[in-house]
Amino acid sequence: MTVPYITTWSTERPLPAQVVEHPRFGIAYADETMGDRDGNGVLWPRMPSRPGHGRPEFGKVHPLRQRRAMRRLLCQVCAGPADRTGRGVLWMLRDFREDWPGWPERMAAIEPPVCLPCAGTSIRACPALRKGYVTVRVRHSTVSGVYGVRYLPGALAPVEDATLTFDDPAVRWVRAAQLVRELHGCTVVDIAPDLG
Ligand SMILES: [Zn+2]
Repeated sequence: MTVPYITTWSTERPLPAQVVEHPRFGIAYADETMGDRDGNGVLWPRMPSRPGHGRPEFGKVHPLRQRRAMRRLLCQVCAGPADRTGRGVLWMLRDFREDWPGWPERMAAIEPPVCLPCAGTSIRACPALRKGYVTVRVRHSTVSGVYGVRYLPGALAPVEDATLTFDDPAVRWVRAAQLVRELHGCTVVDIAPDLG
């Protein structure tokens, strides 16, 4: 059984950190250190990384491994480089082609890309994936924001899950859970011939 790189394990729990309100900058940790924010100044959970220890919790994404894979365009399953051809980087996305014409153009993706062998393995391991998912080549993508939990000024409690871009001032009120990439130059492709 393959456990994806971005999957959380049962021994990985966020370390306690007291969230406080900063008069100008949104939320902060009471005892904040350098590593608590990303390069865009957004707060992240303090999450130990202990893959392989305990049980995998499928469906729960490890925020810091997701961030690393997304930033560096690593395969979300094996953490090797994602597959790339002249048509772009390979993504496996849940099929929402009905959502808008040209989908997934300009989509805010939270799932990191994949490499060709891992895409093939997941399709073979779970034929249902063929139905619900499509493979897409993405020519260009930019790290554009975060998905996470949003706090409201004045009421120091998380209120909702939200996706915000880095240029939105409200991003300072979000504790990030996943890094977002906006996808451009997308082509839905059939990778079956590449898999051999
Ligand atoms: Zn892979």
